[in-house]
Amino acid sequence: MTTVLKFGGTSVGSAEAIRRAVDIVKATEGPRVVVVSATAGTTDLLAEAAQAAARGDGEAANRTLTELGERHGAIARELGVHPGMSEVVSRTAALLNSVAVLHECTPRTLDAIWSYGERVAMRIVSAALAGAGVKAGECDATLFIVTDDSFGSASPDMARTRERSHARLGPMLALGMTPVVTGFIGATPDGIVTTLGRGGSDFSAAIVAASIGADRLLIYTDVSGVMSADPRIVADARPLAAISYAEASELSYFGAKVIHPRTVRPAVEAGIPVRILNTFAPEDPGTTVTGRTPADGSIVKATTSLGGLGLVTVQGAGMSGVPGFAAKVFDTTAAEGVSVLMISQSSSENSICFVVPQGSAERLRGALERTLARELGRHDVERVTVEAPVAIVAAVGEGMRGTPGVAARVFGALGRAKVNVIAIAQGSSELNISLAVADRDREAAVRAIHAEFHR
Ligand code: ASP
Ligand code: MG
Repeated sequence: MTTVLKFGGTSVGSAEAIRRAVDIVKATEGPRVVVVSATAGTTDLLAEAAQAAARGDGEAANRTLTELGERHGAIARELGVHPGMSEVVSRTAALLNSVAVLHECTPRTLDAIWSYGERVAMRIVSAALAGAGVKAGECDATLFIVTDDSFGSASPDMARTRERSHARLGPMLALGMTPVVTGFIGATPDGIVTTLGRGGSDFSAAIVAASIGADRLLIYTDVSGVMSADPRIVADARPLAAISYAEASELSYFGAKVIHPRTVRPAVEAGIPVRILNTFAPEDPGTTVTGRTPADGSIVKATTSLGGLGLVTVQGAGMSGVPGFAAKVFDTTAAEGVSVLMISQSSSENSICFVVPQGSAERLRGALERTLARELGRHDVERVTVEAPVAIVAAVGEGMRGTPGVAARVFGALGRAKVNVIAIAQGSSELNISLAVADRDREAAVRAIHAEFHR
């Protein structure tokens, strides 16, 4: 059984964490590949350094790089290892210098600067594994994860990546070695460094797992998987043993941040189960994400929420039966570059309302008033209003599909908790019911729905 293990930023963020990661790798039998993120905070600091350099402040950029060097040096010292980091450091220093000279940091340059984080972490983890008696091999993903040239959010070319992964990782695995691979980065066919988007190390791990046909992908993070609700809101929230890819997608869309399902898609599509586990509590069972719906009898599996939003309502009797009206409204949101999180229209068509980030709600109202000036003048549209702050609360679960009475239970629970529901939407996939409530009611709403379905 071949296993790909991915360790996130906090899981490699200190000597103590890396020791735990090493123990986990050693305890994993069979061929294995390790994928690592940059240490926690490093990618952000590199972005800051790049920004400082682009302002022409080469000194600030250098200070940040020095600080990063010290941080990583301290971790290596504490682990008693001597990874070769000087080449990566000097290359990054040179990049920052040229950015400072040019006063410009292109996405392509930023990707090269960002690669420092994963390259250094990979070397430290590899050295730590070797120090613990594991035959570890440093593996720079730019040698086999082939991507397009969308710097900052590159997409893999799976056919080429598969070919090169076999060529690179195959021989190492055959020798009983454990390749340690940089997450987050790849390269164009002609070798220019790219990154796969923020949080992209999960994506790297899924790409590697799919490419080598691994039997499982274990994603080690700092929480014990996906919970039935945010434990800061619901004290008795529980970890979910299994969720489907579709459920994971809904949950992350509505604010549950454990994984971005899009990033594990290559593994899920290849039928490789993805397990989310806790480096700091490795005996916890974690959550398995699979393509299929695990039939566990649950109805609402998880309740999640997202606050700090604004509800925009366009209202007026003259809107009903006018084709193209909704198109006009959403052309405006698109032109303003505002992403819409939830939409609801009454069937009388007298109003259409939608939820957007609070910060863009007022601007959007202004834009809508301009686009709809004629309709407003004729009173076909009565008004465009914004209600903020609101929150979206979403109940998610494939077991809701085709189960009658779910909505009644959701709204009954909210009614008893005295939560006023402002707007409702249900996707026709029936795996989520989402509702807008006032931001101050958000936690009460989550608790009420959670209590109703997890008794
Ligand atoms: N280091 C990268 C980031 O912070 C990738 C990752 O952590 O997954 O976005
Ligand atoms: Mg990370």
